[in-house]
Amino acid sequence: MKSLQDPVTALKGIGAKKAKQLATLGIETVEDLLTHYPSRYDDFAPTNLEEAKDKQKVTLHGTVVGEPVLSRFGYRKSRLSFRLQVGAQVVMVIFFNQPYFKDKLMVNGDVTVLGTWNQGRQQVMGTKLLVNQPGKETLGAIYAANKHVRQATLRQLIHQAFSQYQNVIATLLPTSLRQRYQLLDRVTMFRWLHFPENGDQAKAARRTAAYEEVFLFQLRLQSMRLARRRAAGPAIEYNNEELRAFIKTIPFELTGAQKRVVNEICRDLRAPFQMNRLLQGDVGSGKTVVAAIAIYATILTGHQAALMAPTEILAEQHAEKLAKLFENTPVNVALLTGSLTAKQHRLLSEQIASGKCNLIIGTHALIQGPIEFANLGLAIIDEQHRFGVDQRKALREKGDNPNVLAMTATPIPRTLSITAYGEMDVSIIDELPAGRQPIKTTWLKESQGEAALDFLRQQLAAGAQAYVVSPLIEESEKLDVQNATALYEHFAATFGPTYQVGLLHGRMSAEEKAAAMAAFSANQVQVLVATTVIEVGVDNPNASVMVIYDADRFGLAQLHQLRGRVGRGQRQSYCLLVADPKTPEGKQRMETMVETTDGFVVAQRDLELRGAGDLLGKKQSGMPDFKIADPVGDLKMMQYARQDALTLLESSHWDEQDDHLPLVAYLKRRNLQTHFD
Ligand code: ADP
Ligand code: MG
Repeated sequence: MKSLQDPVTALKGIGAKKAKQLATLGIETVEDLLTHYPSRYDDFAPTNLEEAKDKQKVTLHGTVVGEPVLSRFGYRKSRLSFRLQVGAQVVMVIFFNQPYFKDKLMVNGDVTVLGTWNQGRQQVMGTKLLVNQPGKETLGAIYAANKHVRQATLRQLIHQAFSQYQNVIATLLPTSLRQRYQLLDRVTMFRWLHFPENGDQAKAARRTAAYEEVFLFQLRLQSMRLARRRAAGPAIEYNNEELRAFIKTIPFELTGAQKRVVNEICRDLRAPFQMNRLLQGDVGSGKTVVAAIAIYATILTGHQAALMAPTEILAEQHAEKLAKLFENTPVNVALLTGSLTAKQHRLLSEQIASGKCNLIIGTHALIQGPIEFANLGLAIIDEQHRFGVDQRKALREKGDNPNVLAMTATPIPRTLSITAYGEMDVSIIDELPAGRQPIKTTWLKESQGEAALDFLRQQLAAGAQAYVVSPLIEESEKLDVQNATALYEHFAATFGPTYQVGLLHGRMSAEEKAAAMAAFSANQVQVLVATTVIEVGVDNPNASVMVIYDADRFGLAQLHQLRGRVGRGQRQSYCLLVADPKTPEGKQRMETMVETTDGFVVAQRDLELRGAGDLLGKKQSGMPDFKIADPVGDLKMMQYARQDALTLLESSHWDEQDDHLPLVAYLKRRNLQTHFD
C-alpha cells in the first residue's frame, strides 16, 4: 500500500544516490517532496504577440513545428533554431549556446518559451525553455534548490510524486475547519501550489498550506502540553500560612503584577502535574523575588529547588541576594559554578545528593557534572533565552518531572510568544515597582563626547554610580577587551583620583569579576567600565547612569538589556547613547531607545526592523522553522490554530471519528498522545 511516508526511492528513477542528494534539502519521503513548497513563481502569462513591441520580454506557449536545427561554430558556441506555432501565427525561436535543448524538443510537442521579441524579424531570442509544462499553467513554480539538486530536477520529481501518489493523499484538516475557513482539500492544495493555473489558485493553496502547517504545529504542542498537565509531577502542598509569613519578611510590597504571577505559579505548584511556565517581565520588573517565593513554597514541602543562570556573575549575585532573603529560614543555599575545585565540587555534590542543600544556584555546571538531586521539586532557568533547548531540557530531566519555571526579559515580542513558547504556560509581569522613574535616554554624537563626560561628572558629584560600556567588536572578544581596557585607562585618567574607576570584561577570572562587582556594589568603585558581560541581570540599585559607546553597534534587545542595569533604585536614572550611526536602521534604533523604555515596544520595533528569522536566531529561541507559514505575517492564523487544536484535542472521542483519522495517524507517528479526558 502506497503512503506519503514512503521513502523517495519508491519513485521511479530515484536510487540511493539521488536520495542522498535530496536529503541535503531535507527531503526523505514522498511527503517531504510534496511539502517542498515553491518559494515563488515565474509569471508565464502568455504575451499577445499582436500587441508586442520590439525588444519586449515575451512568454509564448506554442507547438514546435518542423525539426529544430542546431549549428555549432567556434569554440563551444552553438545556435539552435526552430519554428513555433503560437495561436494562428508561426514565429522563429533562437537559443544561443544551449545545444542540449535540442534533445528536449519534439516536433508537435508543446513548449513554453521566454525571451526577447524581435519585431522586424518576427523572432524570439530565447532565454528560457520549459517542456512538460502542463498546458494551461501561467505560473511556473520556483523551488529552493542547491548544488546537489537542481531546479528542473525538483520540478520533475514533484510532478512525478504528485501524479503517482495523488490517490493516497488524505486531507489532514478536519472538514469543519476547512468549511469554517474555506480551505482546500489536500490534493487540490498540492496541485494548486505546485502547478497553479493562475495567481488566485496559488494564493488559495498557500493559505490552506500555511494553516495546515500552523495547525499541525499547534496540535503537536497542545498534545504535549495536555499530556504534561495530566502526567504525574510533584504536588507542592505547602502551608499557606508559612508562605505568607515569608512574604511578609520581604522588604517591599509586591506589585499587583507580581502578586498575580505568584498566584499563577503557586496554583501550578500545588497541582499534581509538572509545571512548565514561562515568566516574562521587562528588565527590572522584579522576577527574582517571584522566583524566591516559588522556591520557598517548594522547600517548605521538603523538596529541593535549583536555579540556573547563564553567567557566573549572575549566579553569584542570585546566591548572595537569596541567601540574604532566606536568612533564618530552613533554606540552605549552595553555589555551584565551574570555578569550584574538584574537592569543593565533590563535597557539594554529596550535600545536594543527600538533600542537605535544598537551594542550588549555579551556571550550566548544574547540568554538566553528574549532579544528583535528592528530591528536585522546582527547576528555574533565569534568562532562559541564553540557554539552548538541550540545556533547558537537561535541567528539566534532573529530577522526577520537576516543576519548571523559565524566566525571560522579553527578548521577543508578545506577538511571537505563542509560537516560540507555544508548549508553555505564560505569566507576564507588566508593571514596574512603584517609585521607579522612567530612565531618561539621550542620544549624543561622538563629537559631543565632552558633554557626556561633563554630565557624568555632575552625576558622580551628586553621589551616583555609573556603568560605561565599551564598543562591541563582533568578530573578536580580544578586541573587546582591548577596547574596554583603553576606555578604562581613559576614564581612570579623567576621573581619578576623585572617583574610583573599575574594569570588568569576559577574559577576567571568575574571582576577578566577582571582586570587581563587589567593589562596585559597595560603592568603592564609582565608575565601572565594562564589556557586555554586564548585560544580563547585574543589579546595583545605586547605579543610575549608563553610558554606551558606539551604541549603534548593538542590537535593540541588547541595548534595552544594558539600559536595564540602571533605573533599579529611587534615583532618577539616565542612559547616554554615544553613536554616529552609518545606516538608517542604526538611526532608527537610537530613536527607538530615546522614545520608549517599554521592553515590549522595543521588541516589537526590533522585529519590524530586522524580521523574525534574524531576531529570533532560531536555535536559541526554540522558534520552529516553518516551510510556508510566516510567524509574523500569519500571526492571526497561529492564534486561531492554537485554539482550534486545543478545542479538537479536548473534545470527547474526537480521535474515533473517520474525518479525524489522518490527524490521529499524524500524532501517533510522532508518538504523541491523542486522547485526553
Ligand atoms: P529582573 O526582573 O530584571 O530580574 P530583579 O528581580 O533583579 O529584576 O529586580 C530588580 C530590582 O527591583 C531589585 O533590586 C529588586 O530587589 C527590586 N524589586 C523587585 N520587586 C520590587 C517591588 N515590588 N518593589 C520594590 N522593589 C522591587
Ligand atoms: Mg533577573
